[in-house]
Amino acid sequence: MTPPIVAIDGPAGAGKSTVARQLARRLGFTMIDTGAIYRSVALAARRAQVAWDDDAGLQALLKSGLGLTFLPVPEADDAQRVLLNGRDVSAAIRTPEISRGASVVSARPVVRENLLGLQRELGRAAVNGAVLEGRDIGTVVFPDARVKFFLTASDEARAQRRHSELADKGLHLPLSEVLGDQRRRDRDDTERAISPLKAAPDAIVVDTTGLDLSEVVERCFQLARQGIERLPQP
Ligand code: C5P
Repeated sequence: MTPPIVAIDGPAGAGKSTVARQLARRLGFTMIDTGAIYRSVALAARRAQVAWDDDAGLQALLKSGLGLTFLPVPEADDAQRVLLNGRDVSAAIRTPEISRGASVVSARPVVRENLLGLQRELGRAAVNGAVLEGRDIGTVVFPDARVKFFLTASDEARAQRRHSELADKGLHLPLSEVLGDQRRRDRDDTERAISPLKAAPDAIVVDTTGLDLSEVVERCFQLARQGIERLPQP
């Protein structure tokens, strides 16, 4: 039996990661960041010198096994580490270059087909339940998810958030560059033929422009509780 699934989809910078992490913690669920999986494929391809649009090379890479592990970091509360063949790649998968690579590999049907089973397995293996965040969780990966959110925000608000996040990591890029990159990724994610970014018809759409993300978490938590029949006792 599939445990309760909460799907959080939306474009880059809408606040999905923050909301997914905090919501998972409050619900006692496992958080699964599916973007990190696509990012890891892009990084693994780069390291193996496979071009991001080389379908045969990507297929071989995926068939040999990605060796991907997600590790919670208890001392950092909601954070999680991503290991690729035992090596910590949590920072390496977050660079602007790998963001672009993730967007390219994620449009290749061979990659999406290979990763579909993995995402479903990760969700089903979460004993109490899982919060999955991505672009097609509510439409393709778990169309029967108990609760679906589609988080969005204005282009400027999203780019501003991303800009601050990168600056916190010591990467100071002009806001115009972050905005340009984001628009390109949004366009690629929305217009691709396979599993394009879109809200499921039964998703609750939340516009986070101008909202403090803690308010968004609170709202989503209340809605998720209503949508999930059995919740672990607090
Ligand atoms: O969410 P994040 O920005 O980390 O995702 C990186 C890229 O991976 C996205 O731009 C998108 O192209 C791709 N992605 C996807 N489907 C998902 C999650 C991410 O296509 N479920």
